[in-house]
Amino acid sequence: MAAEKRKSIKKHIKVDVDKCNGCRACEVICSAFHSTPKYSGSNPARSRIRLVYDPVKDIYLPVYAGQYTPSECTSKVRYTSDGKEYDDCAFCRASCPSRDLFKEPDSGLSVTCDMCESDPPLKEPMCVQWCLNDALIYEEREEEVETDESKPDEMETAVESLVDRYGMDKLIETIARMAK
Ligand code: SF4
Ligand code: SF4
Repeated sequence: MAAEKRKSIKKHIKVDVDKCNGCRACEVICSAFHSTPKYSGSNPARSRIRLVYDPVKDIYLPVYAGQYTPSECTSKVRYTSDGKEYDDCAFCRASCPSRDLFKEPDSGLSVTCDMCESDPPLKEPMCVQWCLNDALIYEEREEEVETDESKPDEMETAVESLVDRYGMDKLIETIARMAK
């Protein structure tokens, strides 16, 4: 079936790297806002934005969690700085099977930045509100988008990451046990 087009408000957060001082307030508030119940805890490992230090340019780079991908990158570029070796995976937005970044530490479920979906809606995403250095700039743009019913939603993406990690049999066995 052909995808239909419709107008949609797209959320964007621009990053002004020069203004980021690595304070990590964005990680703290993102993980607190998305904890259950809200604000019941804070663990940057659960945050949907992570601070990466780029030793080559000597900058802190806030990176937003993108979509889960079952593919593992094979074209790794390694570089050395101050005697330490880094690979370009450090700056990738994807949650993928080859690393733990952008995954719930306990469950292994992938996490994706949702620009802080909330009811009632937020005026601005939480990380933007908490970035006192104005390194994160929120923008809304009206765009024409294709509606594609076959695109996986957040739940499907999360389940796919669990299947990749534990296997379908183990996942079904666990769900059946929990349902009892
Ligand atoms: S809150 Fe702003 S300044 Fe602090 S680490 Fe995050 S992006 Fe950088
Ligand atoms: S926009 Fe919301 S979900 Fe996305 S990183 Fe910022 S606080 Fe987290």
